[in-house]
Amino acid sequence: MLRVTEIFRSIQGESTHAGRPCTFVRLTGCPMRCVWCDSEYTFTGGESISVDDVMAKVKAYGCRLVEVTGGEPLAQREAFRLIQRLCDDGYEVLIETGGYVSTEHVDPRAKIILDVKCPASGEEGRNHYPNLDRLRPDLDEVKFVVADRGDWDYAKDVIERYDLENRARAVLISPVWGNGFLPEIADWISSSGMNIRMQLQLHKQIWGPEARGV
Ligand code: SF4
Repeated sequence: MLRVTEIFRSIQGESTHAGRPCTFVRLTGCPMRCVWCDSEYTFTGGESISVDDVMAKVKAYGCRLVEVTGGEPLAQREAFRLIQRLCDDGYEVLIETGGYVSTEHVDPRAKIILDVKCPASGEEGRNHYPNLDRLRPDLDEVKFVVADRGDWDYAKDVIERYDLENRARAVLISPVWGNGFLPEIADWISSSGMNIRMQLQLHKQIWGPEARGV
């Protein structure tokens, strides 16, 4: 069984897939506690649902793109079986992971969107850096949520040290929602000379930051 917070259909709000119709499977629970977390409601509760029932709900929504997210989706052992089943059925599968759990045993047909936690998150020390070595340049993306200048300096250092511009399909710089210094971040990115991209969370612009199930 899987512990599931919600399953819904919406528009993909992040990554290079932003704007695409997508079914989201949001699993319950996360071992991390990022100070700016926008999905604390996933930490507890949820509903126990079999993989078969999750598959049926996903099928009913009719999207070919499916994201397995959380919480931390990879913290549940059964999530790996769900991902395999989705891939077997021909879905394009995205995994949004916080970077604490190893991605080693994720079905290779799924595409990884890997967070690297910056210092202001309070969880930098829990990054599982071998995940960066597993990124594939044609499939996987890496994301830094940036709260301040210190986070930006940290992100630049990790991008250079792990050669992420060549190792990932995209390097995403995502400002913490509502931090009020988007022009500064845009300037840091544009003047960096790096092959990276700024991303804003499309779903929060459409439905607001508090909306659930979108
Ligand atoms: S990893 Fe994601 S879900 Fe977990 S605390 Fe951090 S932002 Fe929240």
